[in-house]
Amino acid sequence: MKKRLRILGNIVIILVITIVSILNYRELRSKHIRSFENYLANVTSYFDRALSRNIIKSNSTDNFVSNTEADEAKRTNQAENTKQIISEDNGLTQELLEQTIDETIEAFNVLVSDLRITVMDETGKVLADSNFPGDKLNNHRARPEVWGVISGEDSLSNVRFSDTESVERLYFSARSNHNNMIVRAAVLMDILINAGSTITLYGVIIGGIALVLFNLILSLLFKKQDKHQADLEKTLAKIESGDLSARMEEDRHTFADYYKFAENFNMTVTNFEQDFKEMQAGRAWLDAMVNSLMEPLVVVNRDLQVVFANKYAKTLFNRDIDPEVNPYPFVLLTHEDKLDDLCQKVFINGKTVRKEFKLQVTGRYNAFQVMISPVDANDVVVLFNDISYEYEARELRSSFVANVTHELKTPLTSIRGFVETLRNRDNTAPEQINNFLEIIDVEAARLERLINDILRLSDIERLNDDSELEDFDLVELLDECLVQLDDQASEKQINLIPSDDPTFLPVKANRDRIKQVLLNLLENAIKYHRMKGNIWIDLRRKGRFVTIKVKDDGYGFDEQSAKRVFERFYRVDKSRSRMLGGTGLGLSIVKHIALLYDGEASVKSIPDKGSTFKVILKI
Ligand code: ADP
Repeated sequence: MKKRLRILGNIVIILVITIVSILNYRELRSKHIRSFENYLANVTSYFDRALSRNIIKSNSTDNFVSNTEADEAKRTNQAENTKQIISEDNGLTQELLEQTIDETIEAFNVLVSDLRITVMDETGKVLADSNFPGDKLNNHRARPEVWGVISGEDSLSNVRFSDTESVERLYFSARSNHNNMIVRAAVLMDILINAGSTITLYGVIIGGIALVLFNLILSLLFKKQDKHQADLEKTLAKIESGDLSARMEEDRHTFADYYKFAENFNMTVTNFEQDFKEMQAGRAWLDAMVNSLMEPLVVVNRDLQVVFANKYAKTLFNRDIDPEVNPYPFVLLTHEDKLDDLCQKVFINGKTVRKEFKLQVTGRYNAFQVMISPVDANDVVVLFNDISYEYEARELRSSFVANVTHELKTPLTSIRGFVETLRNRDNTAPEQINNFLEIIDVEAARLERLINDILRLSDIERLNDDSELEDFDLVELLDECLVQLDDQASEKQINLIPSDDPTFLPVKANRDRIKQVLLNLLENAIKYHRMKGNIWIDLRRKGRFVTIKVKDDGYGFDEQSAKRVFERFYRVDKSRSRMLGGTGLGLSIVKHIALLYDGEASVKSIPDKGSTFKVILKI
């Protein structure tokens, strides 16, 4: 643009200067021609008068042509006698006439040497010429200025290039007062060549100055514009790179438009900076809030790409990438394409949907209640509510119900079977009847134990804190349990060996509940033991925690079973447990009592070597 303007400006200046110079030259030329024409008209008239006088003199054989200034006055007086002269020259011979003309030209040339004088007869035949011998010149009839006079004009001028002399001349022809002769005077146009050169020189100088001035002013203007442009670009680059404090220079010495622009630009940036800061503060607050959520939250766009994920979502789904910088497919986060379908549904229907999903999180599967809500036409927000605990509890409950039903059904079926048998057999031996009744009794007792254990378990599970707490000696409670189990242990020749230390361990807890723990562990140790053996019992306090350790050298079990023995209805050896009257709930009750007392229950066992159960209680 700048280059174009510069070129265009220079061309215009050159054109204007050229046109003005040409017009000037033309004006000068026409002025010159007009003044030459007047001059030549005077010259021809003067020459003609001189010729008249000489002809009169020739008639009186006294050839004379005055060439002095004084004679000029005389000649003027004599012009009044012109009519008389014309009638007199008719008497001259052609030869004398030509001689008189030559003499007149010669005398005239002395006066004005730069003129060319030509005298022609009425047909254009040259009678004499100041620059060339007359007989050497052809008929001049064809010359426009001569032909005009021949055709009737009194006088005629013409500027043209002379074929004879190869120069440009202004010719002026006029009819003479003698014999219709034609007198022509011509002046050289050299002076105009000089004037042309002068005008060209002036044109070049003025044009040059104009060009220099124009380019100088243009450079100055462009310099300010370039500075303004550079400042704008620099400021914009800074703003683009995040520096919102960048401003344009408000230069009062530059053009008013640029100053106004910089002022407005800076004001706009200031407003923008302020709005941006407020927006950032709002965003920071929102980010803090969303990131403090202990539930994963992500925003998914129409292309099913995650465009925002809160801190917890990134941690839980183990994805470090910032989706605001690098959006990634939603399915990569959840590994569940049904969630993509659900998002699509929300985009179509515009309504919130909720559904449960088991999703892979760091190293495991968690259950989530996923809620997808539309944010705008292009985004949905997905909130993952972790319901793993409730989900597990629900699963446990339903499997518990199934197990309980099964466990209850077995003794009931057995009881009903024997009752039916007794009812249908009339002649059953009394010993057999007793035997059947014995079995019914055993099954009924098992049912009772089962129901008691279930009630006990649900009772513990309902509680957050235990009730009916009392102060008692744990060593004394252990002794009570050992006395209670003495017969059972003696039957299998098993020694119950409590540790000597401590002899007194005061605790505050629900006595029955703690007794339940001791009895369950000790009964199991006796039950799952072959004949002859030892059971060691150890009680310890460490700070606010009491540890009960029951070690036996009984059947033991493998590591796999060790992980599951505290589950409800889990039995290592089902038939043995049944045969021994087990319900499969004893250790589960122990674990839940430990949890009730902010403690834990664990086991270490080696098959055929024995087991060590450890229960920690905060009592
Ligand atoms: P049960 O009523 O069947 O005894 P428990 O919950 O008390 O149920 O025990 C679960 C299972 O753990 C038992 O069936 C048994 O197989 C195993 N078990 C418990 N204690 C011992 C032990 N001291 N030695 C070996 N196995 C044991």
